[in-house]
Amino acid sequence: MSSLGTTVIGGGISGIACARALAEQGRAVQVLDRGRRLGGRMGGRTLHGRVVDLGASYLTVGADSPFAPVVAGWVDRGLARPWTDTFAVAGPDGVEQTKTGPMRYGTAGGLRTLVEDLATGLDVELERTVHAVTGGDRPSVDGRPTDAVVLAMPDPQATRLVTPDADVPDADWQPTLSVALGWPTRRWAADLHGAFVHDSPVLDWLADDGDRRGDGAAVLVAHSTAAFAADHLEDPDAAAPAVAAAVRAALGISEEPEWSHVHRWSFAKPAHAREAPFDLTGGLGLCGDGWSAPSKVESAWRSGDALGHALAAALPA
Ligand SMILES: Cc1cc2nc3c(=O)[nH]c(=O)nc-3n(C[C@H](O)[C@H](O)[C@H](O)COP(=O)(O)OP(=O)(O)OC[C@H]3O[C@@H](n4cnc5c(N)ncnc54)[C@H](O)[C@@H]3O)c2cc1C
Repeated sequence: MSSLGTTVIGGGISGIACARALAEQGRAVQVLDRGRRLGGRMGGRTLHGRVVDLGASYLTVGADSPFAPVVAGWVDRGLARPWTDTFAVAGPDGVEQTKTGPMRYGTAGGLRTLVEDLATGLDVELERTVHAVTGGDRPSVDGRPTDAVVLAMPDPQATRLVTPDADVPDADWQPTLSVALGWPTRRWAADLHGAFVHDSPVLDWLADDGDRRGDGAAVLVAHSTAAFAADHLEDPDAAAPAVAAAVRAALGISEEPEWSHVHRWSFAKPAHAREAPFDLTGGLGLCGDGWSAPSKVESAWRSGDALGHALAAALPA
C-alpha cells in the first residue's frame, strides 16, 4: 500500500519547518492552514498602503543554532536584514536609557515572507480549517486517514482538535493586543528602533515599523500587557485610545495618531514554554513555540525541525 504521508496542521514557522524537514528526508507531507496566507504569529496586514508586522517584531538567532544557516540564507538573498541590537527602555512617562542585546532581524516585506519562502515547493492548502484529529495507531484528520499528524500551533488550539483519548499536554497561554498607530511624519527619534516599556499597565513594548521594515514610514506597533489584553478580548478596537495615550506618554509625542488598527492575539505566548523540543506519541506530533523554551521564532523553527527529523526516522520506510 502506498504511503499516505504526514499531515501538518499549522502553517506558522514551526509547521513549515517540520514539513520542510520531512520533505528533505523524502517523506510525503501536506500542510493545512486555516489562514489566507502562511505565517501564523509572524503575520501582518496591509494598512494605509504598506505591510505592517502585527505579530512577532523581529527574530533573533544563536550563533551555533541550526537555525543560523537558514537566517544567513535569508540575509544573503535580501529577504531578511539585520535591524538593530539596541532598543530604548521606557517607563510610562518617558525614555530612560538604551539596552543592547543580540542582533534583531527584520524584513522589507513582512516577517511572514520568510515563512512563505521556507514553504517553497511544499504541498500547502490554505483556508483549510481542520476540525478534528485522531492520533494513536490510526491517525486521521477530519476523518481522512493519514500516516501521522502534526499539530503545529498553540496548545489551546491543538487541544480543541484532538479527541479526548489523545494526549495533548495543557498549558497557560497569554493574550496580547497589537496596535498599529500612524502619524503623518515621525514624531520620535530616528534611532529609537523600539522600546521596552516597564511599569505600565497597558504597554509592554513598541516598535518603529518603518525603521525595521526599512521604508521610514511613521508607523509604530505597540504590544499590550497580557492583563490589559485580557480585559479587552471581547472588544479589542475599544482599546486603541488607551494604547495610543500610553505610547504618546512613553515617547513624549504631543499629537494624536492619524489612524490606528488593533489586532487581537488570543494565544500570543505560553506562560511557561517546555524545555523538551516536541512531543511524538504514536502517530501524533506536537511542536511550536510552546516547546524548545523560551518562546520565540527561533524556538518554533527548532521545535518543528526537530520533530520533522524524528518523525522521518520513526515512520516505516
Ligand atoms: C504579539 C507577538 C509578538 C511576538 N514577538 C516576537 C519577537 O519579537 N521575536 C520572536 O522571536 N518571537 C516573537 N513572538 C513569538 C513568535 O511569533 C512565535 O514564537 C512563532 O511565530 C510561533 O510559530 P508557530 O508555528 O509555533 O505557531 P503559529 O505561528 O501560531 O502557527 C500556528 C498556525 O496554525 C494555524 N491553525 C490553528 N488552528 C488551526 C486549525 N484548526 N486548522 C488549520 N490551521 C490552524 C494558524 O492559522 C497558524 O497559522 C511574538 C508573538 C506575538 C503574538
